[in-house]
Amino acid sequence: MPGKVYITGVGPGDYKLITLKAIECISRADVIVYDRLVSDRILGFARKDAELIYVGKIPGLHAVSQEKINGILVEKALEGKVVARVKGGDPFVFGRGGEEAEALRENGIEFEIVPGVTSAVAVPAYAGIPVTHRDFCSSFHVITGHERPDKENSLVDYGELAGLRGTLVFLMGVKSLPEICQSLIDNGKDRGTPAAVIEKGTTSEQRKITGTLEDIAQKAAEAGVRSPAITVIGDVVSLNGKLDWFPRGKLTGKRIIVTRSREQASKLVDKIEELGGMAIEFPTIRIEGPEDFTHFDQVLKRLPGYEWLVFTSENGVKAFFGRMMTNRIDIRSLAGVKLAAIGEATMEALNKYGLNVDYVPEKYTNRELLKGFPPSGGDSPKILLARGNLSDKKLVEGLKAKGYEVEDLIVYRTVLGDGRREDILEMIEEGGIDYITFTSSSTVRNFVSILGQENISKTSGIKVLCIGPVTAKTAEESGLKVTAVADRYTIDGLVEKLVEEVG
Ligand code: SAH
Repeated sequence: MPGKVYITGVGPGDYKLITLKAIECISRADVIVYDRLVSDRILGFARKDAELIYVGKIPGLHAVSQEKINGILVEKALEGKVVARVKGGDPFVFGRGGEEAEALRENGIEFEIVPGVTSAVAVPAYAGIPVTHRDFCSSFHVITGHERPDKENSLVDYGELAGLRGTLVFLMGVKSLPEICQSLIDNGKDRGTPAAVIEKGTTSEQRKITGTLEDIAQKAAEAGVRSPAITVIGDVVSLNGKLDWFPRGKLTGKRIIVTRSREQASKLVDKIEELGGMAIEFPTIRIEGPEDFTHFDQVLKRLPGYEWLVFTSENGVKAFFGRMMTNRIDIRSLAGVKLAAIGEATMEALNKYGLNVDYVPEKYTNRELLKGFPPSGGDSPKILLARGNLSDKKLVEGLKAKGYEVEDLIVYRTVLGDGRREDILEMIEEGGIDYITFTSSSTVRNFVSILGQENISKTSGIKVLCIGPVTAKTAEESGLKVTAVADRYTIDGLVEKLVEEVG
């Protein structure tokens, strides 16, 4: 049975402008065929085992030809695969979605079109420009800037365009902007008409340059505007100052590296983006189960025998309850067991299982946990300590000193993440990074080991922010100069510190 192709638009940049339908298609697909302007966050909706095929331009090389792309879609569908053909913006607005749909129909392959939020409307909106407004115009026109006005047999008639009273929106026109503006003027359009160029619209790197039909091309060139950018020409542009609203966050323009594992990064990434910053994910760690579950499984059978169960991290909670579920162990076997957690996130992770925590130290470190930990009062003073392989063993000794018998159980391991050294080095060398954030000692150690000790000095111009004093100590010991440490040792605390630093 042949598969099916979903020709799917995913919006212009801000990944949250994706539709529910697009998420559904992408998360179901066996194969994702995607273009240059599609973000990693969107690919994050794909199944882990989905095949990802990039068909966009590679700098310095030609783009994959349309014929070849059509061929890939047909071939994969004939293999019985569900294919998501993922495009920026809307697939039928200069997206060649029509040509792909034709090729599919010719080959008898079923398809669906999933419209997307087009940059032609959304990018002006994020720049405070409504493409229509009753006081100014009653139409808007979306035009390709790819066809130079001097091209013979051009399908774009500048005489006609210059006579329109509606808003003109040019896509793909960065290079030909001077000719576009000149042609409109030559054909009689008022040279004082307000105009704006918006680069990387709807993203944290959005830039807006405004002027008139007469000077906008020069202004854009002076500002070094590059693709993707759109040009809006019309009286509605005059509203952009009054309606300006984006980006408005305290981290606007800042590029911040997030070193957490891919699974855990999203909370920090979302917060940075909500504040207008650009989060660059560089996963230095990955969380895995223990190599051998024998000890783990034995312990899970004896849970009622413990007076306390202690968690040192959110990862530990997830690993522990994940294994309980795998082994179908009833949560009621924890009925008489008291729970302790280091850190708010650890506590909240337990709360999600409907469990209240009996003890959380005021400061989120091992030392604080020990300080206030109640001495054993029961007849079977047994503690189960569920921790990661890299957490500090001193906790075991400390708890023993309080009169407990301690079962030291490794419930997860922290291994090297898949952040790519070349990508990050290039960004660091270009001076494109403002901050690096570290959320644990292992993120620091693995950052250094991925980057290579010899490259650490290259980070000297970048500010280093740590979630807490232990992480900061590791960073200093690894040759990094720590700029600031969060006052509260949580992700929220780290973000607060970041905002404070940016000032
Ligand atoms: N199908 C897409 C357009 C594809 S053509 C859509 O509906 O949006 C590519 C052009 O779209 C770019 O050259 C640029 O002019 C425009 N574009 C896409 N994303 C953009 C963005 N985030 N900011 C500014 N222009 C963008």
